[in-house]
Amino acid sequence: MDYLEKLNNKQREAAMHTEGPLLILAGAGSGKTSTMTHRMAYMIDEKGISPYNILAVTFTNKAAKEMRDRVEALVGQGMNMWILTFHSACLRILRSHGEILGYGRDFAVYDPTDQKTLIKNIIRELNIDGKRYTPAYFLGNISKCKEKKISPNDYAKIFGDDIKEKVIQQVYELYEKKLKSNNAMDFDDLLLNAVRLFERDEAVLLKYQNRFRYIMVDEYQDTNQLQYQFVKMLAQEHNNICVVGDDDQCIYQWRGADIRNILEFERDFKDTMVVKLEQNYRSTSTILDAAHSVICHNRGRKEKKLWTEAEEGKKIIYNRADDEKEEAYFIAGEINRMRSSDRQYSDFAVLYRMNSQSRNFEEALSRRGIPYRVLGGLRYYDRKEIKDIMCYMRLVQNKADDLALIRVINEPKRGIGGKTVEKLQALANVRGENLFDTLMDREVVDSLSVKACSNIKEFTEVITSYSNEKENLKVSDIYDGLLVKSGYLKALEDQNALEAESRIENLMEFKSVIYDYEKEDSNISLGEFMERIALMADIDNHDADENAVVLMTLHSAKGLEFPFVFIPGMEDGLFPGWRAFDREDGLEEERRLCYVGITRAKERLWLTGAEVRTMYGKTDYTRESQFLHELDKRLIEGDGIYEKKSKADRLAEGSFLDGMIEKTAYKPFDQLKYARMETKKKVQSYGTDFALGEAVSHPKFGAGKVTEMTGKTITVSFDEGEKKLALGIAPLKKV
Ligand code: ATP
Ligand code: MG
Repeated sequence: MDYLEKLNNKQREAAMHTEGPLLILAGAGSGKTSTMTHRMAYMIDEKGISPYNILAVTFTNKAAKEMRDRVEALVGQGMNMWILTFHSACLRILRSHGEILGYGRDFAVYDPTDQKTLIKNIIRELNIDGKRYTPAYFLGNISKCKEKKISPNDYAKIFGDDIKEKVIQQVYELYEKKLKSNNAMDFDDLLLNAVRLFERDEAVLLKYQNRFRYIMVDEYQDTNQLQYQFVKMLAQEHNNICVVGDDDQCIYQWRGADIRNILEFERDFKDTMVVKLEQNYRSTSTILDAAHSVICHNRGRKEKKLWTEAEEGKKIIYNRADDEKEEAYFIAGEINRMRSSDRQYSDFAVLYRMNSQSRNFEEALSRRGIPYRVLGGLRYYDRKEIKDIMCYMRLVQNKADDLALIRVINEPKRGIGGKTVEKLQALANVRGENLFDTLMDREVVDSLSVKACSNIKEFTEVITSYSNEKENLKVSDIYDGLLVKSGYLKALEDQNALEAESRIENLMEFKSVIYDYEKEDSNISLGEFMERIALMADIDNHDADENAVVLMTLHSAKGLEFPFVFIPGMEDGLFPGWRAFDREDGLEEERRLCYVGITRAKERLWLTGAEVRTMYGKTDYTRESQFLHELDKRLIEGDGIYEKKSKADRLAEGSFLDGMIEKTAYKPFDQLKYARMETKKKVQSYGTDFALGEAVSHPKFGAGKVTEMTGKTITVSFDEGEKKLALGIAPLKKV
């Protein structure tokens, strides 16, 4: 079989260049990954190279699996080749040789939660002010150090006596010590230790150099310093390294990816053959031109332009809906309209900027009976944080809900392990009562550890007070109160950055869900609300058959392709995200992400946005994304971008400030930060110091007068009669 037959001349040239360094630098959809997989097949079958001698690495598990599937489709299964992510390749090597660095064979790999626990212990041990320094602060700094190979000792030398740095240094030092004594590595260690191992032990390095005579790296533009060193060291002996990438698709700089790795490859490897692929096989010329018209606004890039033999194709559709619901319905409608006998649901993908955006699409698709799956993530209502907070609400609604209680009793950590829960449950069974009642028994609680005891008392108090008060509170007030007073939000905030951040986004997005229902019925009760949500969460349009519309983030869509692509949320502050406006090169990275998004489409592309968007419970006018303005207008049909100015723009124009503020100085509002602050402030601001006869107001009952105050209860006379309310929980305000 001629594996290279299907390749074009340049691709073939690249595939046949198996000896010596090779850089394939090319735009999206030009067949980089295909060239690499065909190259592997050719090496194995035609050149008789053993699969054992090949190492192919990439970034995500999905990409690795895809690559393995493609190669196996060509040469047959069971090759047992190392086609892996960086982390898993390093892990495999360390499992065999970790003892050289002083690790036992069965060393543990600590995930972010383990890391956090460890750091918390250290903070306590070193008597550090936990209010001033969060675990995330330390973990972030430690991770950066590891990426740059700065040891705790180096750190001391670099920063000397600076007090703040000294704190970090001490924590870092102890953290390393503890990891070592626990026989554990964190994720960063996997890469770092693999590199260290190679540095320390020549024999081991040589062994792997001789094993992996042929090395290939896909999506090379997203490698960081350590990953780069890892492959560089492995390749040094035989010099057969092939890296594949596109500088325009570097979208992980915020995680330490170093675009220079690709731009300087030629310098690092002598006699590199550079292959540039310029023909795109994926998209119509309209889509290609659109992508180019956006990316050429980036300054820090090598100019290159793709061409295609494919037809011009249909124009890009732009639709600016009234709000985010309309936007989602529009997309669902378009999918219905476009689908026909030869078009599968799986031909459609919705690629969004933020995980929390998925909810509206899930809802709109469900309502239209369109099957979907959320790729590289969970459905909104299946996400852990959403399930957790819903269990809190279930408990408030019904304290006898043991299942809900078990789910959240140690969430956030309250020092109640699984064994303790089992014991408590057994006791409850014997007594014939529910778990919550058992937890209300002072004697039972006092028998727990000191820490658990006080935590549990706080927990039951929060649930009890909201439960007593639930008729008097709006669902949104209960929600905010639970988030704050259960400690759930704070625990997330204390955690290491990325994942926790996205959980917080999802939790804040839940406020939009609640406000939605309250908009329809301002007096909706917790019970009614929970019922409707349960129905919503239960609609199962998940299709295991894979014939389903794909929902995923733009980041995880890297390397994939779909006939029909929707990119929603084309608004400043969402895409480009507001963070882009903080860093100088932030906007360029967002633009590369936009380029990645557009170039996923083979046949047709839709860009959508909303005039008014409710995000994290806050509703605002939006501005059209500046990427829309950069797009070549001739390629677009639908709402003409320049003609139909956004309301936010019109408002700005009418203002006397217009002309005084430069357009570049514009920075979108950080809605997430606002939502978090608002939630906490709101809950903490409920007054407790009222006087008899004082005039107060309540969001549900309106204006009233304080008639009695006893302990934690306050009695207020409203228009609809007297109410006994809980101090500090009731959202009462002085008038
Ligand atoms: P990305 O930058 O998005 O990772 P890529 O450069 O890796 O893209 P591939 O995914 O390898 O591109 O290929 C894009 C599409 O073009 C695929 O559908 C592939 O099958 C097709 N393709 C690649 N090379 C050829 C070729 N020589 N002839 C026909 N189709 C091709
Ligand atoms: Mg690719």
